[in-house]
Parts: sequence; C-alpha cells; structure tokens
Amino acid sequence: MATHTVYKEPAPLMDRENPLESMMSRFNIAAEILGLDDETYNVLKAPDKQIIVNIPVTMDNGKIRVFEGYRVIHNTILGPSKGGIRYDINVHLDEVKALAAWMTWKCAVVDIPYGGAKGGIICDPTKMSAGEIERMTRGYTLALKDIFGPDRDIPAPDMGTGPREMAWLMDEFSKTNGMTSPAVVTGKPLVMGGSLGRTEATGRGVMVSTLAALKKLGLNPADVSAAVQGFGNVGSWAAVLLHGQGVKIKAVSDISGAYWNENGINIDDAIAYKNAHGGRLEGFEGATPMDPTELLTSDVDVLVPAAVEDVITEHNAHDIKAKLIVEGANGPTSASADPIINEKGIMVVPDILANSGGVTVSYFEWVQNKQGFKWSLEMVTERADRIMSDAFEKVYQTSLKYKIPMRIAAYVVAIDKVAQTYKFRGGF
Ligand code: GLU
Repeated sequence: MATHTVYKEPAPLMDRENPLESMMSRFNIAAEILGLDDETYNVLKAPDKQIIVNIPVTMDNGKIRVFEGYRVIHNTILGPSKGGIRYDINVHLDEVKALAAWMTWKCAVVDIPYGGAKGGIICDPTKMSAGEIERMTRGYTLALKDIFGPDRDIPAPDMGTGPREMAWLMDEFSKTNGMTSPAVVTGKPLVMGGSLGRTEATGRGVMVSTLAALKKLGLNPADVSAAVQGFGNVGSWAAVLLHGQGVKIKAVSDISGAYWNENGINIDDAIAYKNAHGGRLEGFEGATPMDPTELLTSDVDVLVPAAVEDVITEHNAHDIKAKLIVEGANGPTSASADPIINEKGIMVVPDILANSGGVTVSYFEWVQNKQGFKWSLEMVTERADRIMSDAFEKVYQTSLKYKIPMRIAAYVVAIDKVAQTYKFRGGF
C-alpha cells in the first residue's frame, strides 16, 4: 500500500532565466575588474557545501509526504554563514545556490561578519495547515541539526516563512541540543529574542538607499513617484516608508494583481485593506486595477521590484521609464537586462546593497542574543541606517572610481573584501 508519496515538483528552470547564471555573469565581470587571481576565483565560484534533505511529514490526512529541502553554504571565510529559508513550490537547487552566494556578497557589502547561505523546501505553504508546516519545519531542522548553529550557520526568514517558522526552528534546535539557543536563528518573534525593527528592516533599508540614490540624482523625494512590485514584507514596508518620505506611490502589486492611482495610493489604507482581506489587495478601492506586466514599465521615477527573481529582462528593460531602480527582491533583474538598463542611463541600487537592511538587523538580533541584552528600536534603526548609508556611499564611490554601474561596483566591494580575507587567512 503506497502511503508515502514523494512531493517533489521541481520547477523547470528552462522557461525562466537561471539565477545562478545571472549571479555568475556579474561575478565574472567584477572578478575581471579586480584582477582576481584564478585560485581565489575557483574557491568562490562554487558553494562550500550543498545539502539535500528528504523530510517525511505526517499530513493532516494521516498520510506521509516526503518534501525535498536544501541548505547551501556558499562561503564562510568572513564568519558563520547566514541566510534565509524559502518555502515555495518553485524552489530549485540552482536558485538556492545563487541566493546563497548573494548572501555572501550582501554581508560583505554591509561589512558584517558573516558568510552566505540559503535554504529552501519545495512546498506550497498556502495549501498546508499550520500543523503540517510546523512538522515540516521541525523535520528540516532535525535533518540539518549538525549544520545549523549560532557560530556555524544561522537561518532567517525568506519568502514563505516568518517569525512563526523561526520559532519552531529555534525550539527544535534547542531541544535537540538540550539548551536554549536563541542565536541559532534570526527573525524570531519579539518575545523570544527577536529584535525590535527586524520586521521592517529590509523595507527600511530600501527606503534609506532610495533616498541616498535620489540625492545623487539631484531629486527631491517629495517630487518623485514610484511603483512597487510585491506587497509582502519587503514591498509593503518599502512603500509605507517611502510614502512617509513624501514619495508618491502610484502603483503597487501583489499576487492578486496590480493597482494604479495617478494621484498616489494611500499606502496605510492599502495595508489596512490587505490585512483585513486575507493578505491580498484584491478589491482595494483606493486604486484602479492595471495589467501587472505594465507596472514595471509604468510612468514613474522610481521602480522598486520587491517580489521575485528575473522580472526585469531583456524583453521589458527597453520600455522602463523609471530613472532609478531599487531592488528590494533578490535577483529581480536578469543579467541580460543589465546592458539595456545601463545604456538607458538608469541608476540601479542592486539587491545585494538595497535589500541588505534585513540581514543587517538579523546581525543585530544575533548580537543581542549573544549579549543577552535588548537594544531599543532607536538604537537598532540608527545603527542600521548608518550601515546602509555607509555601504551605499562605498558602492557609489567604487562605481565612480572604476566607471562601472552600481551593481558591478557592489560586487567589486564584496569580492574584494572576501578575497583580501583569503589572503590574510591563507591555509589552503
Ligand atoms: N532572507 C533575507 C535576505 O535575503 C534575510 C536573511 C537574513 O536575515 O539572514 O536577505
């Protein structure tokens, strides 16, 4: 009798751009500019470790389903590896490898003492009960108990996961090891060692880097309009905080569709509506529905892709009207779109800089857990904002120095730091 079904529907990567290739093509350009030696190049081009786990889970109907999960440790030369866990039906090992490498570069850009990792489970959490998700999360943690650790590998939320899943992970890891280990994971609920300011941290970093970029472009936030793709944690916080700075948010979108208001959307109303309607904007009356594919090419000054990978491609890049793109998502622009965007003179604050506010406050959470001491919200935001503005300035100056786009400059800053650390540590 077959009670075990293998739940594995790996999304074919053939019909989307491969994020790993997208990441590698930028890495190659930056490595060339830096004159990176072959030895270091070879060390960095592949992840240190790739773990595939099978997670059997008793579903609510009594049957056992086996989920496939991944944890990729890209690099640990700068410190314990850090990176979120994604629950999504489209999770693919190549995607997790790219996301893990992006974490290495992200942590290096903001100069925090972490390496990079990423995890994922192929599943559709929207079709699972809380109990099923809990058992799957605990199974994943148990399977990776020798990988995770406060000084080894520290997971966090990503798409499809949040404080609830991090709490289960922390609990399972703590029980398995016979001690309470809050520092094994970040993005936890506040009551169990989460940090003030973590929830809004990524969106806040997007806001800080948008303001820094507007300043360089000589634009006043109160005179610009923006479109935000994605209204999850990153997009909604970016929208509300930019709105608070006077930016007119003309378009937002989520899984239910895209919405436009020429006079600017009241973002607080949109968030209240979303929260009252199952997390979706469908039916929101403060804006008119628009074709979601048109959001990216709509007539706005700033574009904030804050949803998934590879939405800006060679097919739509020509039609982008924004002067500034600030990447809230990881990998929203495919490498094939880069030359088009550069030729059009659009400034891009790349993902590994723009969305690094999240991991920065994760780092603060970890520090607080290790100190056993809670910081005020003021202290968290003040320090995180400073890290974001310093990183922005460093990347900006690098782009001027080498006459390269901000994206490549961010890779140059990151790879240079990692390569220099290899030189000092040596030991091969
Ligand atoms: N998943 C988030 C990211 O892609 C946060 C990672 C973390 O906080 O460790 O940056």
